[in-house]
Amino acid sequence: MGKVLGEDKLREIIDKLKKGEVRLSDVDSIVGNKNLGTLVRRLFLEEVKGVSLSSIGSTIIDFEEVVGRNIENPIGAVQIPLGVAGPLRIVGEHVSGDFYIPLATTEGALVASVSRGSKAITMSGGAYAIVYRDGMTRAPLFKVSSVKKALELVKWVSENFEEIKRVAESTTRHGKLVSIDPYIAGNNVWLRFKFTTGDAMGMNMVTIAVDKAARFIAERFGGAELIALSGNMCVDKKPSHMNSILGRGKGVVAEAIIKKDVVSSVLKTSVGDMVEVNNRKNLLGTSMAGGIGLNAHAANIVAAIFIATGQDVAQVVESSTAYTWLEETQDGDLYASVTLPSLEIGTVGGGTWLPTQREALALLGVYGPGNPPGANAVKLAEIIASAVLAGEVNLIAAIASGELARAHERLARARG
Ligand code: NAP
Repeated sequence: MGKVLGEDKLREIIDKLKKGEVRLSDVDSIVGNKNLGTLVRRLFLEEVKGVSLSSIGSTIIDFEEVVGRNIENPIGAVQIPLGVAGPLRIVGEHVSGDFYIPLATTEGALVASVSRGSKAITMSGGAYAIVYRDGMTRAPLFKVSSVKKALELVKWVSENFEEIKRVAESTTRHGKLVSIDPYIAGNNVWLRFKFTTGDAMGMNMVTIAVDKAARFIAERFGGAELIALSGNMCVDKKPSHMNSILGRGKGVVAEAIIKKDVVSSVLKTSVGDMVEVNNRKNLLGTSMAGGIGLNAHAANIVAAIFIATGQDVAQVVESSTAYTWLEETQDGDLYASVTLPSLEIGTVGGGTWLPTQREALALLGVYGPGNPPGANAVKLAEIIASAVLAGEVNLIAAIASGELARAHERLARARG
C-alpha cells in the first residue's frame, strides 16, 4: 500500500476522513484510482472501528469498472456460497435441455430441496414453461385541478399515444412502449406506462424513457403538474395486488406432470397427500393470512437465483409472488404448476455483467443480449419458473411426508 500511495499520503487521507475534512466519496478522485480508493476506505474503517476487514477485501471485482455503475463508496465485496441444483429438464417454449441451476444461498437444504424436485420432474419428462405476458412498468403521478381535468388528461393521453410513444422511445433502442393505463383518485392521475425491454430487466431504461414522456405530457397538455416520476403504482419493490393481477416484468408459468410412481419413489409421499397439503397450507393458509401469492417457498429459489445471476435482489419482493397449483390427473399422476405474474429479470444491465454473475448466466446459456433481442431474458424467465416449480414440488412433498424438520436437522444446523 505504502509503495503505491506513500505512507504519508495514506496517513493524511485517513486523518482527513476522521476529521470529516474529506468524504468517503472523495477518496477515489484524491488517489486517482477506484481500486486504491476502495483499499483506503477499508483501511480507514479498520482503523476507526478496530476491526479486520481482510475477507471483505478479498475480491476479484475491478472497482475501476463497477464504481459509477453498480456501487458507490466500495470497501470490497461479500461472498455467498453458490451451489447447483439439478439437472433439471426443461422443455419450454423458448428453452430446452437439462440445466444446472445456480443458487447463491446460506440456507442449508435449499439446494438439496431443488435438486430432489428437479429429479422428480426430470424423471417424469421435464417441465414445460412459457412466458405469457411481458412488460416493465413505471407510473408517474400528475396533479390536476379537478376530476374533470383528470378525465381530460386521460383522454388527451389516449389521443396522443403515438406522439408520446415516439418521445419515450427516442431514449432507447430496445424499449418499446406497449400501453399507458390511467388511474384516477380525485385530482390525482397515475399513468402506468408499460414497455417491452429486450433482454434488460428495464427499470433504468423505462425510468429514463418515462421521464422524457412525462415532461412532454406536462408541457403539452397544460394544467398537469408532474408530482413524482414514480407514483408507486408501478409497483417497484413493494408487495402489491396490482403486480400480481396486471403483471410486471415477465408473467411466466411452469408446469409438469409427475408420475405417481416417481412421487412415491423419489418424493416419498403420495399424490393425494401433496394435493391436500397444497390446498390446506398454500391456498387456505395463505388466504387466511392475507398473503399475496399462494406458495410454499418461491422466494427461496427466486432470491438464490437473483443473487447468483446479478438481478436486482430487492425485486424479489414482487418477483417471488407465485401461485402453486397441484391436482391429481385422471391417471392418478400429479399435475403441478407455478405461475409467477411479476418476475423482473434481465440478462444484460444491472449486476448481470459482474464477473461471477455473468458466469452463472453463462452456465444457463443466457448471458448477454439474445438473438433476437429479448430471447435470452425469456429463456431465463422459463428457467427460473421451472426451478421454482422444482422447489415447490419438493417442499410440499417434504411436508406431506413429515420429513421437513428432519431434513433441516440433517442439512441446515450449525454444529458447535
Ligand atoms: P440498464 O443497464 O440501465 O439498461 C440496459 C442497457 O443495455 C441499455 O443501455 C440498452 O440499450 C442496452 N442493451 C444492449 N443490448 C440490449 C438488449 N439485447 N436488450 C436490452 N437492452 C440492451 O439496465 P436496466 O435493466 O434498464 O436497469 C437495471 C438497473 O436498474 C439495475 O441496476 C437496477 O438495480 C436498477 N433500478 C433502477 C431503478 C430506477 O428507478 N432507475 C429502479 C429499480 C432498479 P438501449 O437503452 O439503447 O436499448
